[in-house]
Amino acid sequence: MKIDDALLEKLTKALANAYVPYSDHPVASIMETPGGEQFVGCNVEVAHYKGVCAEGSAISAMVTSGHRQLAKVFVMGPGDHLCTPCGDCRQRIREFATPETEIHVVSREGEILKTYSMEQLLPDAFGPEQLPPR
Ligand SMILES: [Zn+2]
Repeated sequence: MKIDDALLEKLTKALANAYVPYSDHPVASIMETPGGEQFVGCNVEVAHYKGVCAEGSAISAMVTSGHRQLAKVFVMGPGDHLCTPCGDCRQRIREFATPETEIHVVSREGEILKTYSMEQLLPDAFGPEQLPPR
C-alpha cells in the first residue's frame, strides 16, 4: 500500500533537506495528530555527534504548535531498507502515542514497508502513567 502523493512530497522534501554530513543517512518523518495536522522533520547532525533524529525533530514541531497526541507516524529512510525509529525515538513517540497510533515505515517511493503499533515497537514501555500524578 502506498501513502498519498501530498505525504510523499512532504517526506521527499524533508529527506532532501536532512543535514547529514557525518552519516550520509538522511531520514524524514511526519507526525500526524488525530485532527490530521502534520508536522515534518528531518535529521540534523552536528560535529559532536549528538544531533536530532527526524522523529525528534517532527515531535518538537508538533509540541511547539501545541499538539500532544499522535495518530500516525511516518518514517522514510534513504534506501528501501526498513528504517525504523531508533531506541530514543521509540521512547519519544511513546510519550505522545496511544494504543491505536500507527507507525509506518515507508520506502523512498512511498510504499508502506511495515506498520507497527506502539506495543510492537516498544513493548511494556515506560511512560507517563508510571510516574506519580503532578
Ligand atoms: Zn531516533
